[in-house]
Amino acid sequence: MLLSPTWTAILYLAAAVCFILALKGLSSPKTARRGNLIGAAGALVAVVTVFLSVKLDNIPWIIAAIAVGSAIAAPVARRVQMTQMPQLVALFNGVGGGAAALVALLELGHSDDPWVRLAIAFTLLVGSVSFAGSMVTFAKLQELMTTRPVVFPGLPIIMAAVLLAAIAASVAVIFTSAIWIAVVLIVLGLATGVLLVLPVGGADVPIVISLLNAFTGLAVAASGLVLGNVLLVVAGTLVGASGTILTRAMASAMGRSVAGILFGAFRGGSTAGSTVASDRPVRSSSAEDVAVLLGYAQRVIIVPGYGLAVAQGQHTIAELQAALEARGIEVIFAIHPVAGRMPGHMNVLLAEANIPYEALKEMSEVNREFKTADVALVVGANDVVNPAAKTTPGSPIYGMPILEVDAARQVVFLKRSMRPGFAGIENELLFEPQTTLLFGDAKDSLGKVLTAVKAL
Ligand code: NDP
Repeated sequence: MLLSPTWTAILYLAAAVCFILALKGLSSPKTARRGNLIGAAGALVAVVTVFLSVKLDNIPWIIAAIAVGSAIAAPVARRVQMTQMPQLVALFNGVGGGAAALVALLELGHSDDPWVRLAIAFTLLVGSVSFAGSMVTFAKLQELMTTRPVVFPGLPIIMAAVLLAAIAASVAVIFTSAIWIAVVLIVLGLATGVLLVLPVGGADVPIVISLLNAFTGLAVAASGLVLGNVLLVVAGTLVGASGTILTRAMASAMGRSVAGILFGAFRGGSTAGSTVASDRPVRSSSAEDVAVLLGYAQRVIIVPGYGLAVAQGQHTIAELQAALEARGIEVIFAIHPVAGRMPGHMNVLLAEANIPYEALKEMSEVNREFKTADVALVVGANDVVNPAAKTTPGSPIYGMPILEVDAARQVVFLKRSMRPGFAGIENELLFEPQTTLLFGDAKDSLGKVLTAVKAL
């Protein structure tokens, strides 16, 4: 016996409320884990409700597909390194967009209502753009292909022609249910996705993932209209809206516009991602010297970055904080909104080591405090403290708000080499007289500094 429409609506409403509460929870590191669980519970309610309320054909096939998907996704999600999370999001997001497009393809012959057919055309196009675009971002971030912008002569013209053809095919899908036109639309959507993402390079790739995430949300919402499923419309709209807000927030934290990110390479302005190490002389010192600087300071501001996540040095940094505090030194952490490779990366990393949230200061709050700091300890961060963002018009990061560590009395960088950060540009701060470098893996260096501080 199937659930009544009333019970189905009540369960869908409960799932929708879970999704909204999940988003609310995800807005703070304190409640993010709970928010994630609430969202997962909402998804479970939604799936079970479909089984209980719709007379489904091919149930063994559906269960087999769910089992195969879960068997692949669960271990991958458990094992993935935090630093690889953006590409995992890209992969899952692409699969979502592709699934929405396939649903629309299957629904092609089921309705003559022009509005439904418009929703089908939209889902086919946007779902396939999202699928192909996400796969290219995955390949870039996983370094299966170059991370630099890929541009070639005539790209803008090809792009415009493919887009126009895609719009024409979308209109055709509204008026005819010929399957081959829908397939042409999917192929044009895939081509649009590839062409849209190829010219994006370096630091901009994770922002495009967020944009494609918004696209997938819209495709899923449209597939909800096709299937007459209110919950899909609600969930898709939430993903579309939150993806759009996140894209804008990330772009503004990097001082860039979304259009500049997508089309910057056409004008030669996208981040290039060079990896050439500088051979200019710098002042480097030993862990013992750094321990003396830190151990006799009154105020230390630690700036964590991507390299701390790579080195998995979060627990050692927590121990160093405790050792310094035991000597009566004030220690705070300065968090840049795009430090690392995804929003909130540093918050999650430091939370893993139980560093109290109160010790984490946002950029706007902490920037005025650097001038009263004896030491700014920059651990595996580069672009987010690079003064070129303020001083060098034309630099790929020009306009990006930065942590103003150069105002501190002493600056210590922990990094392995003279290679640049993600944006691929040299950091003048490394060559300033108040700067000292301690070369080595961040976790090893932090361990050595910790031992030396304890021995003071
Ligand atoms: P960067 O990529 O600028 O710098 C990382 C630094 O860590 C490098 O100097 C590297 O130098 C060092 N490093 C790497 N591995 C280790 C290790 N094992 N031990 C010690 N040091 C190490 O990182 P930031 O966090 O400063 O900046 C983030 C960048 O990512 C920005 O350009 C930002 O725009 C971009 N980005 C971030 C997003 C986000 O949402 N967080 C989204 C999109 C882009 P070396 O190799 O010499 O060790």
